[in-house]
This record gives sequence, structure tokens and C-alpha cells, in this order.
Amino acid sequence: MEIIDDNGNSVRKEAEILEKWRTDFFNLYHGGNSEQFDSDHYNRSKVHKILLEQNMNDPLYEPNASINGNITREETSEIVMHAKNKSACGHDQIPYSVLKNPVIIDALHNLFQWIFDTSTIPSIWRKSIICPILKDYNTDARDPMNYRGVDILMKLGIVDYFERKDVISMTLFESILKEYYNCLWKNDIVKTPKLRTYVKLKANFGIETYVKLNLNKTERSFLTQLRCGILPLRLETGRYNGEQPNERLCKFCNSNSTEDECHFILHCSLYNDLRESTFNDILSGNQLLNMTNDEKVIFLMTNYPRKLAKYTVKAFRHRRVVLYT
Ligand SMILES: [Zn+2]
Repeated sequence: MEIIDDNGNSVRKEAEILEKWRTDFFNLYHGGNSEQFDSDHYNRSKVHKILLEQNMNDPLYEPNASINGNITREETSEIVMHAKNKSACGHDQIPYSVLKNPVIIDALHNLFQWIFDTSTIPSIWRKSIICPILKDYNTDARDPMNYRGVDILMKLGIVDYFERKDVISMTLFESILKEYYNCLWKNDIVKTPKLRTYVKLKANFGIETYVKLNLNKTERSFLTQLRCGILPLRLETGRYNGEQPNERLCKFCNSNSTEDECHFILHCSLYNDLRESTFNDILSGNQLLNMTNDEKVIFLMTNYPRKLAKYTVKAFRHRRVVLYT
């Protein structure tokens, strides 16, 4: 194994390599690099904390009972009982099947309440086995900072196999790894500012079912644009004309709503007839009664992609005709 030290020299001595990995990751999690420390954020948090405390001193202050109330044993039990037995245990080496014993649940329950009351957590909870994974295969594999340090063994439940010196089947390993990356991907993509609609609508990493549907080229293209939030509705086109998001209103109805995907699909009166004939009673059905607009769009996308594609093509063509006449 080889690494590059801070002066750009190649190092091959094991002790030095291990030390470099240790210090780099230590600094990463302890803000060793002062340039990376966001003092603004820290100051804002401090101000926020003071305001909260002042607020609590107000005689009329009413604490949020559901958040600040004691932890019930039922809550603890519920969470413990839902843990997967086969998952690898943490640094404490206690298997999940043991934690499900009622006596242990009582103990855990007391522990959680104590943590809640004292704002202190057991130090062992801060320990984990880090497994480095190269973030980008085009970068220098000799620089520890090009790796994502995940406590992957814990999350993947592979430690068990390792400790039992057991063979793990590659198919099982592959499926665990896939699931793991699907989770990582879901967490990461939410942080991407540009893909607003895509993030909202895309639930899983993988090929969407609509890609395999027998749609014609135009329908497929419109559905993809809709999903990716690049259908040229005013929410999107306004961005390029320098309009503020609240100025990007629909010009085709009097609702004073932002012309975004939800408005286009669910509400705009310009497409009332088309909506009625395409979706019939799907939209007014009981199933959608308690859904938010986003959930309704996701529902249509998942369950009625063909109808949604046809609606989008026709509605958008109609929109274009109205816009230019
Ligand atoms: Zn409208």
C-alpha cells in the first residue's frame, strides 16, 4: 500500500501510512482544518440557543409536550422490536436478538430516559469501525481524503461473517451493498439543489418502470422532462428570465398559483377537460383524499405513468397553442 504525504511524497512504510490515515480522518471529524470550520453557522446556533432559553423563561411559555415529554416504554419497545435480528451488532457486541428481551428493554428504556434528561450519551456510541470507500475512481487512491469513511461493516451486517470466519455469498453481499448504496444515494441526492423535482419524485436508485413501458418517443420524452423538472413551465423558464420564484405565476388561469408541475398536472383550469377525460375519477377518488400535491403527483407517476404521459403531451401542446394565439 502507498500514500502521498502532506508534502506530496510517496510513503510506503506501514506505520506512517496508518498514522496518516488516522490523523486525516481524525481532523476530518474534529474540524482540524480551521478553514473548513463554519464559524458563522456556529455563531448562529449559539444565538438560536440563547433565544430558545430566553423563550423558556417566559412565564407564558408552553413546552411542546409531544417532543419534551418522557420517553414511554412502548416507544422504546416498538423501536427495539423492529430492529432486524440479523443486523451486525454495534461496538458493544450485543446482538439485536438479545436486546429484544423484556428485561433489556426495561434497561434500555431507563438508559434512554437518562440520556434525555442529562444530555449525555455513552461514549461507546461514538465508536465505529470505519471502512474507507473511494468516492471517485478518477481521483488519487493514495490520498485518504479521497475516501468516504463509512461504518459500512456495521451497516451492512458483514462483521458477523468476518468474526465467524464465515464465507458470505457474493449474491447476498451484492444485494446488501446495493441496498446500502441506494440509501446513501437517497441521502445524497436530497442535498442537490438543482434537481428539485427529480428529488421529489424519484424514490429509488435504478431504472424507473416508465422507461420499460411501451410509450412513444414524445410521451417518454415529456414524462422524463416532467420528472426532471425541466418541462418548460414558468417555474423553470422564469429562472432564466430572472423572475423570483413567487413571480413565476401561471398565465393560463386566474388562480394566482406558481406554474409548477403540481399546478400543471392537478389544478390549472386550462386543462380541466383534458384532466377529466384522462384520469376520470382517479383524482377525485378516496385514495388521494389525504395526499399532499407532491404525493398525488408521485402516485400518478408510479401507478398511472401511461395516463400521465398522455396527459402531459396533450396538455403541453394545448398550452403552446394558447400561448402563441
Ligand atoms: Zn394555471
